[in-house]
Amino acid sequence: MADFLVIAAHPDDAEIGMGGTIAALARQDHRVTILDLTDGEPTPMGTPERRRQESEAAARVLGIARRVTLPFPNRYLADTVENRMAVAEVIREVRPAILFIPYWVDAHPDHLAAERLAEAARFYGKLTKTEMRGEPYYAPRILHFFCTHYRLHADLAFVLDITDQIDRKIDAIACYRSQFNLERGNLGLLDGIRATNQYWGSRIRRPYGEPFASKEAVGLRGLRDLL
Ligand SMILES: [Zn+2]
Repeated sequence: MADFLVIAAHPDDAEIGMGGTIAALARQDHRVTILDLTDGEPTPMGTPERRRQESEAAARVLGIARRVTLPFPNRYLADTVENRMAVAEVIREVRPAILFIPYWVDAHPDHLAAERLAEAARFYGKLTKTEMRGEPYYAPRILHFFCTHYRLHADLAFVLDITDQIDRKIDAIACYRSQFNLERGNLGLLDGIRATNQYWGSRIRRPYGEPFASKEAVGLRGLRDLL
């Protein structure tokens, strides 16, 4: 059993980018924590209370035990020293084997800030002689998930087979009824996400997949898990 930490700018980013992977890890009895850097508000049909209920419901669907929301401002998220330290404290507490953070190319400034902020916080995590809470810890690996507003076809490290988890993933995203609903006319986004995962699945000859990127080479212990 291992600990994993997923850092995202907004509630629903983690689900859209890697909800299938999160559900798979939870099913294997790993401990997954999602850290949302903002509560996602304001949005046209949301309230902080409604968003909190939705993100808690999504966490239950994915089967994870813990979801943390930091009070950074939605739409104006910034990579500051104070914000890095707050995120580093969560990293020092969770001590993840893998830190999952957004991809580094995006149109949404919050997503870009989240990537920079999380990368810096990973480094801050190992600092000694600091007022940050917790014991020093350096997450050994960062992987980047895709919730980007660009229609990218980026260089990938790998695609994970999420065939057994695709329905759970879509159910988790559907919990965000204030964001995806008939009135906003955007329920088709759920089909679009499913289709995108189907496309990535087709690249590994499986029904559904989720892509991940890495700045470093990904090492394998052996070839057994290659599809
Ligand atoms: Zn987002």
